[in-house]
Amino acid sequence: MTDLLRIEDATKRFGDFVAINGVSLALPAGRLTAIIGPNGAGKTTLINLATGAFVPDRGEMYFKGDEITHLPVHQRVRKGLSRSFQVMNIFAHLSVLQNILVPVLAMRGRAGFPFHEMTRETEAVTEARRILREIRLPDAENLPAGTLSHGDQRLLELGIAIAPAPELCFLDEPSSGLTPVERTMVMELIRRLSTERRTTFVIVEHDMDVVFALADWIVVMNRGQVLIEGPPAEIRENHAVREVYLGEEELLA
Ligand code: ADP
Ligand code: MG
Repeated sequence: MTDLLRIEDATKRFGDFVAINGVSLALPAGRLTAIIGPNGAGKTTLINLATGAFVPDRGEMYFKGDEITHLPVHQRVRKGLSRSFQVMNIFAHLSVLQNILVPVLAMRGRAGFPFHEMTRETEAVTEARRILREIRLPDAENLPAGTLSHGDQRLLELGIAIAPAPELCFLDEPSSGLTPVERTMVMELIRRLSTERRTTFVIVEHDMDVVFALADWIVVMNRGQVLIEGPPAEIRENHAVREVYLGEEELLA
């Protein structure tokens, strides 16, 4: 497998605190990777580094072989690298369709397009509607996004993240706040999108049942470092992982 993204020895400090401490990671195309680890392990910070929100204090990053360490977020998106956020990141007052149109138009070089004119862009609207069908929200296109249920808002976020047709897409806790049934549905949708769209997903996820059932590869982070990575069966048996989750053993049962 070719590596889509390679992170080499990345370190990120906040003042004296080392949030990411010498992390190296290769993400091959087509492999659904889950990043797990306790709160504060550095999972979101790693996504921020990979997607350009933060610049590392040390280390390099390569996307499809090109160095991107200092490339700003929007240029990474254009190269095929996108993300969703741990905290809900939708425009509550815009319609569901408009929320999808923002990234669709941005990819067509039309960032900052006036909101009230967006729905006149017929090609972009066709594409946005296709995305709404993919995320199973086709009937909600005219609703203000803020009126959707929490579960549907999470689906919309997924739609916004895949709208730029990324080759690599980071999803930061895409199922947080969802019921177990909704979680399974979102994860199965991610799995399906990963084959149908040929997008490589990297998810941060707390539900171990979901992680072990769906991921091809698991990266365990702890205190800003990668503790271990491997296929689910290996991670499940790993003693160090069990120690990190001490008191949460049932999660790995
Ligand atoms: P995780 O996503 O694994 O829960 P984070 O990456 O959000 O962890 O955070 C890792 C550590 O870095 C935490 O201790 C957090 O408080 C700290 N941190 C994250 N972002 C910032 C920031 N912008 N400024 C200062 N500290 C931060
Ligand atoms: Mg986080």
